[in-house]
Amino acid sequence: MTAVPDPIPRLRKALLAWFDASGRALPWRLGAEGRRDPYRVWVAEILLQQTQVARGLHYYDRFLEAFPDVGALAAASTHAVLKAWEGCGYYARARNLHRAAGIIAADGFPSDYGGWLALPGVGPYTAAAVSSLAHGEARAVNDGNVRRVLARLYGEARPTDAWIQARADALLSPVRPGAWNEAVMDLGATVCTPKAPRCAACPLAAHCAALATGTPTAFPAPKVRAAVRAVEAVAVLIGNGQEAVLERRGGGLLGGLMGLPTRELVPQETAATALEALCKRLDARPGELLGQVQHRMTHRQITLHVYAAASSLPRQVVATAALSRLDHKALGLLRTRQDSLFAAPLMGRSSI
Ligand code: SF4
Repeated sequence: MTAVPDPIPRLRKALLAWFDASGRALPWRLGAEGRRDPYRVWVAEILLQQTQVARGLHYYDRFLEAFPDVGALAAASTHAVLKAWEGCGYYARARNLHRAAGIIAADGFPSDYGGWLALPGVGPYTAAAVSSLAHGEARAVNDGNVRRVLARLYGEARPTDAWIQARADALLSPVRPGAWNEAVMDLGATVCTPKAPRCAACPLAAHCAALATGTPTAFPAPKVRAAVRAVEAVAVLIGNGQEAVLERRGGGLLGGLMGLPTRELVPQETAATALEALCKRLDARPGELLGQVQHRMTHRQITLHVYAAASSLPRQVVATAALSRLDHKALGLLRTRQDSLFAAPLMGRSSI
């Protein structure tokens, strides 16, 4: 009986040849294969989690301009780091990046997967990405792109994390692990896309079980999403678009960030009673409703009722504070309102 040839070497060769010819030229891919700049790769991997590369490039460039190396990041204030992170969401990642930079500035860059994994905010995906790309270590990455490509390649509708990791480990090129990881990521991002895979242009088409079924997009089956919780809150704007009373928030609603004083509605509470309670805490006088803003987070849909208020509390310069997108939207209400007031006849203008 003739032995069936192992398809993995052919599959590796096909994907790596495609990557060499068509891989994306990304700013953190400077330097030789397996010798990428660890700082750039690490920042990119943390910053681009949950963000598409095309959308995140602007944030990456802005962050690298502010902190061109790990020493600059370690020496920066938390405030400056959060400011440079503005718009990227998930601010805990910026805080961890900053803490880890302090450790690296003191001890040097980790030299392997285990060293990266020990840093704050670095999980198995990032540790595998940085150690393979920057140090040439044979560690397979496992993220959404990898999951989709491997589920389709093997025709597996409901892959578990352990299943994906086992397949990714088996396929990883021992000779070019960093390039292999980048190749799978690029294939998932540019060819084997979620809704419209370009199978005719895919270097893995000859090996792909999902393509053979005729319905590649059925793999993997959609995940059952956690319910999105509706959250209502009130915020007060004491000041104007340039200077306003800001607080560091506690609790689950963007906790840890600076923003307009806010109160999340508790059961049985209305926006009016929540405003009253918030103003009582601040010793402020409530004013008129400026409007509502909607903000979607991973598991929450926030409706924020924004009111004007008066108080003698000290104000801060808005432009230099690290504010969430929710607060920028709330401040945007004031700008919209001022624009419409200036467009209206002078009579009946009010000041906030
Ligand atoms: S052949 Fe199609 S479904 Fe299969 S890996 Fe390539 S792009 Fe994805």
